[in-house]
Amino acid sequence: MDLPNMKLIWIRQALKQLGWMACAASFVFWSRAAEFDLKKTETFRRLKSALDAVPAIDTHDHLPPFDRIQGRVETDRGFGMNLSSIWRSSYYTWFNPLTAWPKSGRFEDWWPTAKHDFENARATSFYRYQLSAFSDLYGVDFETMTDADAGAVNQRIFDHYKSPDWVYEVITERANLELLVMDPYWDRLGFQMEYPFAVPTVNVTALMRGVHPSDFSNPNDSPFVFAAKNQLKVERFEDYLAVIEQILMFGRLKGAVCLKTTTAYERTLDFEKVSKERASKAWGRPRGQSSEQEVKAFQDFVMWYLVELSAKLELPFQIHTGHARIQGSNPMLLVDLIAANPTTKFVLFHGGYPWVGETGAIATRHKNVWIDSVWLPTISYTMGRRAFQEWLEVMGSNRILWGADAHHAEGIYAATEFTRRCLAEALAEKVERGELREDYALRIGRQILRDNALELFPSLKQRLWKDKGKRLRPLRTGQGE
Ligand SMILES: [Zn+2]
Repeated sequence: MDLPNMKLIWIRQALKQLGWMACAASFVFWSRAAEFDLKKTETFRRLKSALDAVPAIDTHDHLPPFDRIQGRVETDRGFGMNLSSIWRSSYYTWFNPLTAWPKSGRFEDWWPTAKHDFENARATSFYRYQLSAFSDLYGVDFETMTDADAGAVNQRIFDHYKSPDWVYEVITERANLELLVMDPYWDRLGFQMEYPFAVPTVNVTALMRGVHPSDFSNPNDSPFVFAAKNQLKVERFEDYLAVIEQILMFGRLKGAVCLKTTTAYERTLDFEKVSKERASKAWGRPRGQSSEQEVKAFQDFVMWYLVELSAKLELPFQIHTGHARIQGSNPMLLVDLIAANPTTKFVLFHGGYPWVGETGAIATRHKNVWIDSVWLPTISYTMGRRAFQEWLEVMGSNRILWGADAHHAEGIYAATEFTRRCLAEALAEKVERGELREDYALRIGRQILRDNALELFPSLKQRLWKDKGKRLRPLRTGQGE
């Protein structure tokens, strides 16, 4: 064997060994990565407990007056909330099955079937977001509890909902929420808030919808009913526009801090700029007498008008984007409207899910845009965590908000906890990777949970109560707060 051959063999052997070492090293790395749970780090624990201590301002919720909280059923103990109500009146049932509450009203007739409903939903966020309500408020693990535990929880939920005290305790103490901006879909133009921690929004969805009184099946939504009650005439299209302004002013007088629309559930977010003349064609005629294009022109015009009023009356505009009709809810469709109205403060809801990156890009370009992560962790926890990280990389941390978007005390508690966890995890990961100092991460967390909402809706500052050492409880005859 000559020398060059020896060298070759030696090099080959060395390469083989190196290959094995690299293999072993990557195995160790990946198995450690698979074991690694960021939530077990001290950084996460510190951030999470600091964020839990922030009295949060929830920018969007739907908690009806106590007697009208949805989900109550007839039971063998009377009419009330129970375990089935907590799931029925949640996002879980949007895409997952839930056995109907039985006519007998007996838990024993419901649970044996219902407990199997969750089998295909175990990894979904629409299921998982509610789990902390059971562990933290009822002390049971929903996934492993016995039938007897389930029966006991069912009874305790029923007992809790005999009095509104439970709702107050869960929301203001256990979830540590100070104020909730409420979207009262049950009474859009009434602005009556039963809870002292609730602040109304003006839901303008119906104002854009209707070309004729017959378009409003619910009198609480009808601008025509509002006009009649307030002796305002609505004979011409101009009158209608004036009534809209009156409604917004009335809402502001009643404490509303913003406008809100969920029109993305009904139509595209592509709002063309149309002339008043074109817009007025459909107005005042029963819907069947106008073409689809004429109705759209009317709605497009009203949206532009509302956007102008939003700036004029200093009521930022919360717009549902993404995850409604999939066609037409991409927030990119709003860019022309946003660019043409730089003095209106646009709040893009739900982070535009699934278009969270697009939403970030819009906010980067347009300083009059805020991103509200409301509902996003509940839709997809992983996308929520990723979105917080991506947005913080492309825009200022002072324009990101959050909201629970739930319908009963347990749902609000659970969505709040889910968001605090998601945000803490997003921030902790950046800290652990050396991409963000921990004190900065903490400041960002506080901004998203509280400070940004107070800055965007400054009148909320007058409604703060936690620093006054108060405890909010339902008003009863002869009793104070
Ligand atoms: Zn909502």
